[in-house]
Amino acid sequence: SNDISEVVEADRAHLWHHLIQHKPFETSDPRVIVEGKGMRVWDAKGKELLDAVSGGVWTVNVGYGRESIAKAVYDQLIKVNYFANSAGSIPGSIFAKRLIEKMPGMSRVYYTNSGSEANEKAFKMIRQIAHKRYGGKKHKILYRDRDYHGATIATMSAGGQDERNAQYGPFVPGFVKVPHCLEYRKQWDVANYGERAADAIEEVILREGPDTIGALCLEPVTAGGGVITPPEGYWERVQEICKKYEILLHIDEVVCGVGRTGTWFGYQHYGIKPDFVTMAKGVASGYAAIACMVTTEAVFEMFKDDASDPMNYFRDISTFGGCTAGPAAAIENMRIIEDEGLLENTVKMGERTMNNLRALMDKHRVIGDVRGKGLFCGAELVADRATKEPADEKKVQAVVAECAAQGVLIGATNRSLPGFNNTLCLSPALIATADDIDQITGAIDKALTKVFS
Ligand code: PMP
Repeated sequence: SNDISEVVEADRAHLWHHLIQHKPFETSDPRVIVEGKGMRVWDAKGKELLDAVSGGVWTVNVGYGRESIAKAVYDQLIKVNYFANSAGSIPGSIFAKRLIEKMPGMSRVYYTNSGSEANEKAFKMIRQIAHKRYGGKKHKILYRDRDYHGATIATMSAGGQDERNAQYGPFVPGFVKVPHCLEYRKQWDVANYGERAADAIEEVILREGPDTIGALCLEPVTAGGGVITPPEGYWERVQEICKKYEILLHIDEVVCGVGRTGTWFGYQHYGIKPDFVTMAKGVASGYAAIACMVTTEAVFEMFKDDASDPMNYFRDISTFGGCTAGPAAAIENMRIIEDEGLLENTVKMGERTMNNLRALMDKHRVIGDVRGKGLFCGAELVADRATKEPADEKKVQAVVAECAAQGVLIGATNRSLPGFNNTLCLSPALIATADDIDQITGAIDKALTKVFS
């Protein structure tokens, strides 16, 4: 085991953690992850942990310790690490080609440093298109309750978790919320819930005026907002509505993208045709910083020809858009997913996870609902199945802590979001085996018994 006293001291004195409420080093027993291999990480004391959250936020899709990715990044950096603006790079162009091969109907890749920035890029293009085509009128962007699109002011303006965000206001104008589509927490008492939830989007469009709405931005599966898989019929209606009112469809694949749900992209389950797709976490599984905004040739056509058109101006000379480490890692990440059959594995292991969680429902009345797609699964905990009153947040966190004590790291959806922040979240690496899945759900079984009996 390692001596981490210097690390702990430095952290306590100087580091401002992203999620300050976690205060990981202010506990009496701080955890420092010092190594990872496959599905597992080790802390400084040598404790082995099965990681069911892929690095905390659903990122390390191909698992830890991938020498071939590290080597691809090393080889590229030592050749040429960076050049921006006036020249291209080999991995940048090659990854764009490989990515588009997985996205029929899409055509152009724009690199950014983060998911937030990729979403900002799409938002800006939507606004540009409003000016180019509709005299600035069709500039509003619809976003959905419970969805998340990033940490910048504009992406927070499109944030469906705004109870938490209120402190950052005032927000950017022109973002309008539509209702969430979680059937477990019904807002309409109808048989065809998916269609009804999509109709609610149309109602907002009609209320605002269709000639003011430029785009609709949605997560394929709402991640941090509650692991919400849209009900049957939802996407077909969404696509129809977008077509009917000339509204561009922007799908945020920052969590689902590059394999997480068992297809390359979450939207591909539903046969829909987006105009913008953004992605980040899984693109290089956290081995290098890279995110992408992908769009169609039709959108590109609007900009490409006339450089003298002031509406074609791109004010984006991004520092790290010129770093070659990202696309070098992304190429190798994609090769691994293909060569190791990880999409197929994700489908199989996702089904196993869902079956295991459903089996736990028989034993634990505290599980109110089980949802998921591929290896992105959630179990919503309730105090009462009849009223669906959310389980006590402290108890949800106690389940997470108890699993960690058993050597399994699981997550819970956004705890600072009132209402229903009570969903356990599983997103193991796509290399998970049946034994891994059983170990994860076994730990949850024991933890639920311990915390709720
Ligand atoms: N969209 C979704 C769905 C996300 O989950 C996140 C990050 N958690 C983002 C966008 C923002 O990405 P980033 O943190 O890379 O800026």
